[in-house]
Amino acid sequence: MREEAKVAIVGGGIAACSLAYHLARLGWDDVVLLEQDELTSGSTWHAAGLCTQFNSSYTLMRLLRYSVELYRSLEAETGQPVNYHACGSLRLAATRDRLDEFRQRAAMAELVGVPFEFVGTERLAGLNPLLDTRGLLEAAYLPTDGHVDPTGLTTAFVRGASDLRVRRRTPVTAIRRERGSWLLETPVGHVRAEIVVNAAGQWAPAVARLVGGDLPLVSLQHHYVVTEPIAELAALERELPVLRDADASSYVRQEGGGLLVGPFERDRSRGCSTASRRASTAGCSSCGVCGRRWERSSLRWAVREFEEHDCPAGEAARTRRAVKAAEREIACEACGWVAVTDKYRGPALLAEHQRIGPNKADAAEPASG
Ligand SMILES: Cc1cc2nc3c(=O)[nH]c(=O)nc-3n(C[C@H](O)[C@H](O)[C@H](O)COP(=O)(O)OP(=O)(O)OC[C@H]3O[C@@H](n4cnc5c(N)ncnc54)[C@H](O)[C@@H]3O)c2cc1C
Repeated sequence: MREEAKVAIVGGGIAACSLAYHLARLGWDDVVLLEQDELTSGSTWHAAGLCTQFNSSYTLMRLLRYSVELYRSLEAETGQPVNYHACGSLRLAATRDRLDEFRQRAAMAELVGVPFEFVGTERLAGLNPLLDTRGLLEAAYLPTDGHVDPTGLTTAFVRGASDLRVRRRTPVTAIRRERGSWLLETPVGHVRAEIVVNAAGQWAPAVARLVGGDLPLVSLQHHYVVTEPIAELAALERELPVLRDADASSYVRQEGGGLLVGPFERDRSRGCSTASRRASTAGCSSCGVCGRRWERSSLRWAVREFEEHDCPAGEAARTRRAVKAAEREIACEACGWVAVTDKYRGPALLAEHQRIGPNKADAAEPASG
């Protein structure tokens, strides 16, 4: 094989194929996609396919709304079934804090144009008759959320990218710069490209290393279980909305006549090679006077809790917060190494920790700041 293209995409999962589709829609017709195995053979085929528009970022919420709208129309456009189930989703709130968080998201959703409702326990029981609503306050209901078939969706993207050249069983083994373009080596020949896109999912750090790059991407283990058919489900007139409980860190959706249950494991790492980045997406705030500490899904919530806490030192604590609120904490769940840093240095520190290993973790520990 000797091939030339404007863009070479490395990988054949949902990210690569969605990119190829969107490039085609923008008129980029000289694109080749190189997949080491079969399309979707990476993480994509495992996915539970959940599609939610609930997010803490306006930009991502807009993108998620666009995705859901696209998934609903892609089948008609490409002829490839993607099985988008618009069953809606429910997020449970058992605490005032959680409700406050939902209220903030609801305001965002209104601005972005994502349908978002609050439902009390009575309606909740109607939407999901299998749910024990004791102890719950309310739930956030996003009626246009749902789930999709990841393999069908990936295939639809490829079909929709009309001029895309797909090379299966073509692992990229080396990438180098040659005469003003990139040369990608594979066991079956070379591809020369102006632009290379690394869409190799959990293998992306290895692909980055082919050009001497350091991509601090961390894989986390995640499993779900699928139950046998459940008689109560068969009696329902409509599919259950996807159910999420952030306090229990899990999701449940209907899968045929049974349930698909996905818990987010507390100990997701088996060693420093899979060290997790905690609080880089979350926020922490602590009071330097009374020692209380808050970790929340966002820094804003952590700071708010700080501001409302009843600290004996009053104003003095507030001054401390000005320093602490700008910090993030990263931690390795495997060996317990923790570093407090700003959000920009966090990923690089974690990568360094992974490189040198837990026994020398102290050497990598930075000064607070
Ligand atoms: C159990 C489970 C449940 C999940 N549930 C959900 C969910 O409900 N909703 C959701 O949004 N996400 C979910 N995810 C996450 C989702 O599956 C991933 O985020 C997504 O599939 C990543 O897609 P990707 O294209 O980036 O990577 P991948 O699908 O892993 O694709 C990367 C591809 O690159 C190829 N590749 C690697 N190196 C090379 C090379 N050198 N040359 C050529 N090809 C190469 C690989 O073979 C692979 O096919 C779930 C994941 C798991 C494991």
